[in-house]
Amino acid sequence: MDLQVILYEPASFETKPQGTSPCHATADCLSNVSRFKINEIGPADASVLPVESTLREGEQFANAFFDTETKVKIAKALDDFGVDYIELTSPAASEQSRKDCETICKLGLKAKILTHVRCHMDDARIAVETGVDGVDVVIGTSSHLREHSHGKDMTYIIKTAIQVIEFVKSKGLEVRFSSEDSFRSDLVDLLSVYSAVDKVGVNRVGIADTVGCASPRQVFDLVRTLRGVVQCDIETHFHEDTGCAIANAFCALEAGATHVDTSVLGIGERNGITPLGGLIARMVVADRDYVLSKYNLRKLKEVESLVADIVSFSSCGGLSMSWWLTNSVQINIPFNNPITGFCAFTHKAGIHAKAILNSASSYEILKPEDYGLSRYVHFASRLTGWNAIKSRVEQLGLSMTDAQVKLCTQKVKAMADVRPLAIDDVDSVIRAFHLDLTAAEENPLLPTEKMIDHEMNGNSARQITA
Ligand SMILES: [Zn+2]
Repeated sequence: MDLQVILYEPASFETKPQGTSPCHATADCLSNVSRFKINEIGPADASVLPVESTLREGEQFANAFFDTETKVKIAKALDDFGVDYIELTSPAASEQSRKDCETICKLGLKAKILTHVRCHMDDARIAVETGVDGVDVVIGTSSHLREHSHGKDMTYIIKTAIQVIEFVKSKGLEVRFSSEDSFRSDLVDLLSVYSAVDKVGVNRVGIADTVGCASPRQVFDLVRTLRGVVQCDIETHFHEDTGCAIANAFCALEAGATHVDTSVLGIGERNGITPLGGLIARMVVADRDYVLSKYNLRKLKEVESLVADIVSFSSCGGLSMSWWLTNSVQINIPFNNPITGFCAFTHKAGIHAKAILNSASSYEILKPEDYGLSRYVHFASRLTGWNAIKSRVEQLGLSMTDAQVKLCTQKVKAMADVRPLAIDDVDSVIRAFHLDLTAAEENPLLPTEKMIDHEMNGNSARQITA
């Protein structure tokens, strides 16, 4: 098939200031990195829209079992967060899946409801009957999948895709056509099918890194090439097998993609896809003001905790609740999760703590208060500095000079060299030290501040390392 290469012209391109971020993206007229628009759709506004797939891709996660009530809870939480699209498991997968699809469509959510089906008329007919706003159609295009999965050639794929797309559009619904395993597909095959479906008015074409093999550079190249071939929106889907899912999503946006598939905590087939929270963190750095104005970021932790708890519970399989409560290994929000990892805003090293206490932006690119979270300056370790201890002294309502705080810090560090410290341990050291100071003031025979100064001079080398 001949390919017609067209010049894509984003209708609303303008030199928009990139919010308050110090990390400006490249000045590229096709990049959608700083053009989030959540409540508007269509290629004309060159918007970037996450397609939230926790209730489709996420259901493929090994430990996931979502009953109807659970799906409704997740769908409402995602809607409160402000996602634009919620993608559901194919109603052709099972009778309950079909009923759940209908139930969620009747909830009256602000988000558009999509379902993800095989590129087949039978599936498309079932999908349009459920009340969804759009149908996401998918078929494998790589030689691996053509040989070992559906066994169809490219001529059949293009013919069927056009038939299904025209049918879904005739029902007044949105339709997306996606290849599967796009990065191991022949480029000419890919562009041929995308070009053909673009000509019959598909709303979006999808690129899927189904096996997680793509690098950011490959993603940029493919999306940028595709951007020159189709006029419709471009949706992208990245798996996490090699740890590039967020970076790949960002590169896709830089290259002109308009939609990114996400799931809460990245749950999905194998080790999942681009996580919603991680993508949000990445995009906040690109354009904080815009993301804050569009998403209810204070709900992020809530929606992640909801899904983590559900997945934890699902992992008990057929075991009883009492077994689960006592024996299951919980699936928690990962410690290194962007934004909501338990230590995402914890500062430990003395040098960091000092700067953070003066100006938070010195060691933070994200602001915890944007997400309803708090910053924590760690002061219970051998790495702590006297500025962190001084801050703790003030939190405890005690009064010390800087010299006294420095000496107290040395006592904390000496104890931390011997064993791990809890906050209570440090507080005990501080309080005992303060008590001694008070006693010394009342009894001149005890160590005075002058004596402390003398002792400090002898330990100046240690202070520098704080
Ligand atoms: Zn996937």
